Amino acid sequence: MHFVHESLPQRVRFQTGDAAAAVTAEVERLGAARVMVIAGSAEGELADLVTSGLTPVLRHDEVVMHVPIEVAERARAAAVESRADAIVSVGGGSTTGLAKAVALTTGLPIVAVPTTYAGSEATAVWGLTEASRKTTGVDPVVLPRAVVYDATLLRSLPVELSVASGLNALAHCVDSLWAPQADPINAVLATEGARALRDGLPLVAGDPAGLPGIELALYGAHLAAKAFASAGSGLHHKICHVLGGRYDLPHAQTHATVLPYVLALNAPNAPEAATRLAGAFGSPTALAGLQELRSTLGAPRALRDVGLEEADIPAAVEDVLAIAPPSNPTPVTTENLTRLLQAAWAGEEPQ
Ligand code: NAD
Repeated sequence: MHFVHESLPQRVRFQTGDAAAAVTAEVERLGAARVMVIAGSAEGELADLVTSGLTPVLRHDEVVMHVPIEVAERARAAAVESRADAIVSVGGGSTTGLAKAVALTTGLPIVAVPTTYAGSEATAVWGLTEASRKTTGVDPVVLPRAVVYDATLLRSLPVELSVASGLNALAHCVDSLWAPQADPINAVLATEGARALRDGLPLVAGDPAGLPGIELALYGAHLAAKAFASAGSGLHHKICHVLGGRYDLPHAQTHATVLPYVLALNAPNAPEAATRLAGAFGSPTALAGLQELRSTLGAPRALRDVGLEEADIPAAVEDVLAIAPPSNPTPVTTENLTRLLQAAWAGEEPQ
């Protein structure tokens, strides 16, 4: 065996129903006294609850998907002006992303409290969007020092967002099985993550406020993000990165829609990954298992429904080709990528 696996240093707390106590303890552990709270206005009430044990010096609520650079710069300036010494972020991947953008230039430690299944809290990946281009990078300084998972905070997530976000987490599992730094440790995390999401998400869809389903899905989403953090971005993430940055498509829905097409492209040339996923899904094949889950969940089906124009496909193909991992199990060409995006755009059966 030859592989290098890096485990990221982070405290992870699952504390259902008691995020406030966990956040207070984690801020104390950091020795911080001047906390900047980042939470979008829609998550304002959740943030009040979560930070009730703190006296923040600043509450910042300008959160925008894909972190436009000017939004990041305003948050950075506010952090410096308030002399904050730590950040508590309460929200989905967009909120965690803004906290990371602030940490990138200020070095401030983050305590992240996720309210979706996006998983950004468990990675050292940051992302910024400038002039319709999304730039990402990896820097240990943006990795939240602590993560507090409280399933009660996800009870208010609309069911269609829970489904899309949960499938975004599943995409981390699937893509990490063939991403550039895929290794056997990531594969274990990804397989158990896929199993937990496969079991948890139908419970969430059937009973959106039920805690057992949310807890299982959050656990799966955390493992998924850990696998992704170590394996890096595979073809699926590269495609979604182009679609999100260039055409401003909604992140989770785009991942949920594209995933079966990438799985269909790669599974024939990635037999071990396909066998692992089939086992996690309890299905004869990986693709059949994913499609059965998507059908149970009423998952989004077509990129045209989330804002992509058919005329955008050739330029998207060109952008993806430029960044597609050379190690992708099925070599990527203009032809197969065009077919993939056409089928995903129209919502055709993946094959
Ligand atoms: P999001 O954070 O934009 O949230 C989506 C919507 O859900 C928003 O309208 C938000 O207000 C609402 N919402 C969030 N939590 C809620 C709750 N508990 N109840 C009710 N409404 C709630 O979307 P997302 O899918 O969580 O994150 C997407 C972003 O995260 C993208 O920019 C993506 O690039 C980034 N991301 C980064 C990484 C990484 O490793 N850096 C990983 C995954 C995602």
